[in-house]
Amino acid sequence: MLGNQDRWQEDLFVAGPMSALIPDDHILKRVDKVLDLRWLRSEVENLYCARNGRPSIDPEAAVRLMLAGFFEGIVHDRKLMRQAQVNLAIRWFAGYKLHENLPHHSSLTRIRQRWGAERFLKIFQRTVRACIDAGLVDGETVHVDATLIRANVSWASLSTEHAEKVLKENQERAKSETQDKNEPPKRGRPRKQAKKLKKLSKTDPEATLTTSSHDFHLQPSYKQHTTVDDQAGVVVDVAVTTGEANEGQQLMQQLERVEEATGRHVETVTADAGYAHSRNYVVLEERKTKAVIPPQRQHKKPKHIPLVRFKYDGKHQIVRCPGGKVLTRRGYHQKMGGYLYRSHAQDCCGCRLRARCFSASVKARRVFIRDGYEALLRARRARARWDLETQRQYQRHRWLVEGRHGEAKTQHGLSRAVRWGLENVAIQVYLTAAVMNLKRLATALSLFLRFLQRSDDLSRRKSIPLEDFSIITAILGYLPLRCS
Ligand code: SF4
Repeated sequence: MLGNQDRWQEDLFVAGPMSALIPDDHILKRVDKVLDLRWLRSEVENLYCARNGRPSIDPEAAVRLMLAGFFEGIVHDRKLMRQAQVNLAIRWFAGYKLHENLPHHSSLTRIRQRWGAERFLKIFQRTVRACIDAGLVDGETVHVDATLIRANVSWASLSTEHAEKVLKENQERAKSETQDKNEPPKRGRPRKQAKKLKKLSKTDPEATLTTSSHDFHLQPSYKQHTTVDDQAGVVVDVAVTTGEANEGQQLMQQLERVEEATGRHVETVTADAGYAHSRNYVVLEERKTKAVIPPQRQHKKPKHIPLVRFKYDGKHQIVRCPGGKVLTRRGYHQKMGGYLYRSHAQDCCGCRLRARCFSASVKARRVFIRDGYEALLRARRARARWDLETQRQYQRHRWLVEGRHGEAKTQHGLSRAVRWGLENVAIQVYLTAAVMNLKRLATALSLFLRFLQRSDDLSRRKSIPLEDFSIITAILGYLPLRCS
């Protein structure tokens, strides 16, 4: 029989609570069981005047609205508030009744400005703490990686740094004038080429032009540095820098923050070749942390005899070349961190390897030995002997930390920054990481509840304290958790 839906007669009243209209397996309903933001009010209380001014939005409601947006992949405040008007789940999650007016979208901007990035960092850190309490983090093996976040600027906003250009022109003019007065002009080409001027965005000067390793495109970016725990893929640390920051230099700070959060020593760290700095190998050896970091590959067809063919003798502070001659130490390069070694011109004169060793325009071979070069050599030898367990750890690196980056970009809108400035991008990154951790926590809880479903105790307990979660790893047995 053909059905008929009466669409024109509206209900005056809706019987029952709002939560009854939201399915139990909805992500916001599941997350609500594990999200505790009661601490937030006291945290931000000092940022508001106690006696004057209009009452602000409840801090917990504001954060819940932002989080709900990130769960749904809505990163723009206007769009979020439009969605919240019609989306029952967001309304319920933020604590607004059906007839209540939602805050204006600009209120969320003002809250971000007033609180600053450190409050949002605390929200993220609380989710990490909850995951640790739930037994989802063991802190022994961590995976480290970085990813670029495209800045929210147009190509038209990029311009060559004006001040730098003018200063350089002035310097050159002053130099040439002095030269004209005092000295005869130098013959030949100038030895150093003029440095290429940087391009900056006029709308977001903190974003820097960086080449993506994925598609090799230069783009104005920020860089997210992520540390993921091996056990259940929980993001245990996250930091944001400008795009040009070197990820290898962030590694030690990341490990220190993870150890502070988990209270455990990191036994194994995995990272890609971008972290294969000799200094990192040295420090990891000193810390007694196993480095699953493949050293960078050598050029297959180098123009001259490569550095690996030269034998470094740290004890006597010399380098022995493939021709059997000794290269002696010359000077320390402060900026690059290492010593320069140079061969003797008379040794090279009659050498049969001369043509392959260095170009015809110079008289001797120079090699640069960075600090910690021996640790790098040890890492190269270890890489050739990686056992199955180490290979498995490096495979997990790919799908755990790179998987988290993919998840953040495809599901939570982190493929592009929404606002300008390092602080705003950091807030976006902290909230995205918090959302990903809450998803894992909610999934753990639902698996835990399913396990206990047969128990009579469950029917009497509406919510389960997080401390009880500590048995979850033993119960579930299989991790990582699959999240919706
Ligand atoms: S050219 Fe000089 S540095 Fe190179 S292998 Fe021969 S002796 Fe050694």
